Amino acid sequence: MENVCTCLGQNVGRDGRDILPFVSNVNLIGLLPSELEDLAVELGASRYRGRQLAMWLYRKSVFDLEAMSDLPKDFRQELAGRVVVEMPELEREMPSADGSRKLVFALNGGSRISSVLMPDDERITLCVSTQVGCGFACGFCLTGVMGLERNLTAGEIVSQVLVSNRLLEKESRRVTHIVFMGMGEPLANYAAVVKALRILTDAKLGVAYSPRRITVSTVGLVPGIDKLGREDLKVNLAISLHATTDEVRSRLMPVNRSFDLATLLAAVKRYPLTSRQRVFFEYVMLEDVNDALDDAQRLVRLLRGVKAKVNLIPFNDWEGARFRRPPLARILAFQAVLLDAGVTTTVRWSKGEDIGAACGQLREPLAVASASAS
Ligand code: SAH
Repeated sequence: MENVCTCLGQNVGRDGRDILPFVSNVNLIGLLPSELEDLAVELGASRYRGRQLAMWLYRKSVFDLEAMSDLPKDFRQELAGRVVVEMPELEREMPSADGSRKLVFALNGGSRISSVLMPDDERITLCVSTQVGCGFACGFCLTGVMGLERNLTAGEIVSQVLVSNRLLEKESRRVTHIVFMGMGEPLANYAAVVKALRILTDAKLGVAYSPRRITVSTVGLVPGIDKLGREDLKVNLAISLHATTDEVRSRLMPVNRSFDLATLLAAVKRYPLTSRQRVFFEYVMLEDVNDALDDAQRLVRLLRGVKAKVNLIPFNDWEGARFRRPPLARILAFQAVLLDAGVTTTVRWSKGEDIGAACGQLREPLAVASASAS
């Protein structure tokens, strides 16, 4: 924080924060609390005013500058002329028969992304997107078919949480857990994802989520996993594993040709965990591809020495997919092998399959007329 250069012309601080030399039309959503403090100073106010701004936006979810009653009037006026408070437009809300709902957002530029709200008793988990599309082309994933269109900004990532909470406020509820498991590969949009995580987990001036309630899922980008481990964010890590041999994994997930299973598991073992934390492994179950009992036994061996929890995800179908979901008995037999070996394993039935909101089903067409839609 102290070692930031705010001189004109340099727009990135040494710790990666964006600096705002010429403040004009800046979107406040997506700025770190410390950047809001810098902004207040740039506008001739004190850092304290920046902290107040952060509290209004992130702690109190108040987005109207006029309603920020403890900010001096002239500062509010200065802000109104120089900054915006903008979030992607919630274009559609699609309820599923199972209680989950898909939120479709129209972004600046016409792209669409979605988030999925999944209530489960007291818990409401929000699955957020980090990119428009995805560049990793996993063979079983519909988002992968789209290719990568662009990265989301930190503001667009945080907004998915803020808008969801505003929606839930009407029911006196709030998102309790956040999983970075929507469209895109979080660690391929590293800077924006980490910035969003800092805003979401800042207990004093941010949205104040406990990092224990946040999970970042990756296809297995080893340098990103190592870097995330060094951030001291303490968020949970999930690995999309999906196979137990390099031959099968490379066929399903081209990324395995860059970071094979041994390299990936070595990185997982280096990821710092607290005493009660575990690494989650997602394993999509594909009939006759990775669902044999031999696979289950190999998985047990691979996870030896790893504090792991395995989530088996029965494959969710989509038009044109080359895979099938195994019969239930086969999934349960696979699970039994893991359980017998002492590996905590659950079968995770995806939510929102009927509305195209389940794992691997997220794909939104371009929002052609979204700008004028509302
Ligand atoms: N790119 C990150 C974040 C997406 S998480 C990652 O891959 O981890 C979405 C999860 O759903 C991943 O584990 C993905 O492999 C899984 N998935 C993708 N397509 C699926 C499908 N058709 N059925 C079930 N799970 C799928």
